[in-house]
Amino acid sequence: MSKKTLFQKIIDREIPSEIIYEDDICIAINDINPQAPIHILLIPKKPIPKLSDCTDKDKDILGHLFLIIKKITYDLKINESFRVNINNGEDAGQEVFHLHIHILAGRKFSWPPG
Ligand code: AMP
Repeated sequence: MSKKTLFQKIIDREIPSEIIYEDDICIAINDINPQAPIHILLIPKKPIPKLSDCTDKDKDILGHLFLIIKKITYDLKINESFRVNINNGEDAGQEVFHLHIHILAGRKFSWPPG
């Protein structure tokens, strides 16, 4: 059996985290090292390593994640301005190889990103 990712351990409650949303398909937690006043990680429970590993079979999960972004940002009253980010691969800054979406809000963001 392959080794559990950090986020799989969080999903399985082997590592504590601040859970702000959970359903059958995904979990959202506060990032341990926030890069903005609000920095949430939205993680599918299926251990897909990265976005580029997704297939047609994952389209319901991917669609669900984006609608949950809408729900979380609405519930937190940050739906007017927020940033959504996926790091795909080491050169893009991915450190945990279990797909996750960063949701950032609460400050101004510049473009292009670093
Ligand atoms: P990435 O660089 O896109 O793979 O993002 C990984 C993110 O996971 C980083 O923003 C880390 O701060 C965050 N992170 C690492 N360990 C934990 C943890 N135990 N709980 C919550 N977030 C974490």
